[in-house]
Amino acid sequence: MKLLKERICQEGLILSETVLKVDSFLNHQVDTELVLEIGKEFAQIFGDEPITKVLTVEASGIQFAMATAAALGVPFLYAKKKKAITQAEKMYSASVFSFTRQETYQICVSQKYLGPSDKVLIVDDFLATGAALIGLTDIVKEAGAQLVGCGCVIEKSFQEGRNWLENKGVRVHSLARIASMSPGKVEFLEEHHL
Ligand code: 5GP
Repeated sequence: MKLLKERICQEGLILSETVLKVDSFLNHQVDTELVLEIGKEFAQIFGDEPITKVLTVEASGIQFAMATAAALGVPFLYAKKKKAITQAEKMYSASVFSFTRQETYQICVSQKYLGPSDKVLIVDDFLATGAALIGLTDIVKEAGAQLVGCGCVIEKSFQEGRNWLENKGVRVHSLARIASMSPGKVEFLEEHHL
């Protein structure tokens, strides 16, 4: 997505060779017009499938899931992060190791809102090691729902997330694929539609 890549080049802060900060337009202050365009793009890419729900994880995936769900005309659902699961009997849950925080947490979704009749598109802000998205795919599986694919706003293609997901047979599409980063410079991979 050209517009997104331009903003990453103009405003992205490269904190290290593996961490990119996009707080000025995506992750803290949010450019709503850009996010709505991102939602439309995901809806167009995955819209050939009869999606019933968009799923993400709080907090940084929420605006992208909402924009995508609005473009598709379906609800979105966000997994909540919990240290301990108190309502285990009514929740689907999965463990996720956070790359940015270097800690393991639980994500959970109420069984009321996801079930075998759902066709789910997962959306998130970053694809790095893939742990967050794998956790979400585990929840979709536990619910007996069908996974349509994963839409990622920014993929750091030099990390293992995409391979891990593709090896599990998941359709992945990222709007900006970063091949490498170094101070002041971001190199993108060519876009391709799967
Ligand atoms: P993963 O589970 O794929 O390793 O990481 C996914 C989550 O970690 C994303 O939802 C995102 O919140 C966070 N994350 C991973 N890498 C980055 C990064 O380079 N920059 C920012 N801002 N967040 C990241």
